This record gives sequence, structure tokens and C-alpha cells, in this order.
Amino acid sequence: MHLYRHDIDRNVVADMLKYAEYVVNRGWVCNTLGTVAARVTHPKYGYVIYTKRKGISLEEMGCDDIAITDGTGNLLHGKGTPSIGHQLNREVLLHRSDINAVIHLHVREIIALFTVLGNQTRLNADAFPLEFCKPSHSSETFKRLRFISDDAPLVHRRYIYVLEKEINVEADASMVKDFVQYTNCFVMPNHGITSFGKDISEAYYRLHTAVEEVGRIISAIQVAANLKVLTGKKMKIPYVSEKDVKQMFKIGRELIYGKK
Ligand SMILES: [Zn+2]
Repeated sequence: MHLYRHDIDRNVVADMLKYAEYVVNRGWVCNTLGTVAARVTHPKYGYVIYTKRKGISLEEMGCDDIAITDGTGNLLHGKGTPSIGHQLNREVLLHRSDINAVIHLHVREIIALFTVLGNQTRLNADAFPLEFCKPSHSSETFKRLRFISDDAPLVHRRYIYVLEKEINVEADASMVKDFVQYTNCFVMPNHGITSFGKDISEAYYRLHTAVEEVGRIISAIQVAANLKVLTGKKMKIPYVSEKDVKQMFKIGRELIYGKK
């Protein structure tokens, strides 16, 4: 090991355990998969990354199950190495200097909605919660989630991206750099969700907000379908317009956190 006990930031470990408990209590963890990662500056390594060791769940995790690596993934402290998904944490942190925490989880509602949408091509455009986008500095087209609420864009401050179902950036993180600048949260259909923030708290708020927003969209689709049966009329789902979303991205930090 390359870190002494006094090198370990107990506040970060306590934060990791606290937020692991939060996500467990919300029913978002069902096995050893899923993790929390936090970047901490370090005089020798520039920064180190705290995360969970492989083979234990966030539900069971204790202080001794924290693994600490350098930015390239070398284990500096811990009983075992992190899981293969740690390369995803490392890539996000490498390409986003404004981000210090990543949460990745396999949440039921996320997998349900996006796995079904991945195969669905016949929903009418007004109801469909995904749309294509081309960020101004990219030559690539991506898929993003439309917002149904005002609070989700305020908290996220960027669109939630949805990857193609064949792409697994947990197994091969080389594509993370292609889109990580444009979002603070992305979904892998059939798999799960990854959110990030300036600290674990912000990553948690974004993850919680994304799960809530997806739940609202699922409810809206169900209500629209039921009303169509009752009225015989096709029901629109009035997603928030791009103009309004962009305005909320702009004012989000001040409105949510009280600072610019
Ligand atoms: Zn995963």
C-alpha cells in the first residue's frame, strides 16, 4: 500500500458511507454492482479516488471496504481492488475537472423505461420522452431525455443523455470522453444510471432527481394512455421546451444552492 493511515480523509470515508446508506434506503441497490466514487486532492498523486472495493455491496460496505486508487487506477489503499466499473469513474474525473464525485447504480425504473424505449419506434412524437441532439462543439448526434418538470433541469443543469443499448462504458470507458462534457448524468439502457457532481451530495441530488423525473414520465405516459382510452383522443405530454430548459440550466445553481 502507498498511503499511510493518516493520509486517509475520514470525512470522505464518512460521506461515502452516508450516501451509500441513502441510496440503499431508497431501494436502488440490489447486489454488489453499483458504486460511489469521490476525488480528493493529494500532494503526491495530484488526486486520489475513493471508491468501494470489488465483491461487496453498498449495503454491506464499511470503512474497511473503501479502496483508494490514483488517477490511473493503481491501488494505493484497501483490502481489494475496485470493480471493473472504476475505469468509468476515472474517465469521468479525468475529463471533467469541475466534477469530484460519481455515483453509478442499477435502478429498476431506469432500466425498465429505457430498455422498453430502446425498442419502441411507434410512440407518437408528442409523447416520446427522448429526442436527438447535436452539441455545438461535437460532430456527433446523441440521444437525450426530455424534461417534464421544472426542478429536474434546475438540478441537472445539463440534459440527461441516453446511450445506445449496445454501448457499455463500464466495460469499456473509452467512449466516455465523447459525451461527458455535455451532461451531468447518463443512462445505459438494460443497465443503469451514472450521475456526477462537484461533490457526492450534488451527484446524489442529480441521481435522485433523475430517478424521480423518470418516475414522473412513466406516470405521465400511463395517464395519457388511460385518458386516450376514456376520451378517444390522442393525449400530448407537454414536455418543457428547450428554451425554458436552457433558462433553468442557467439559473439552476443560484436557485437550488443559493450561489452563482
Ligand atoms: Zn453497472
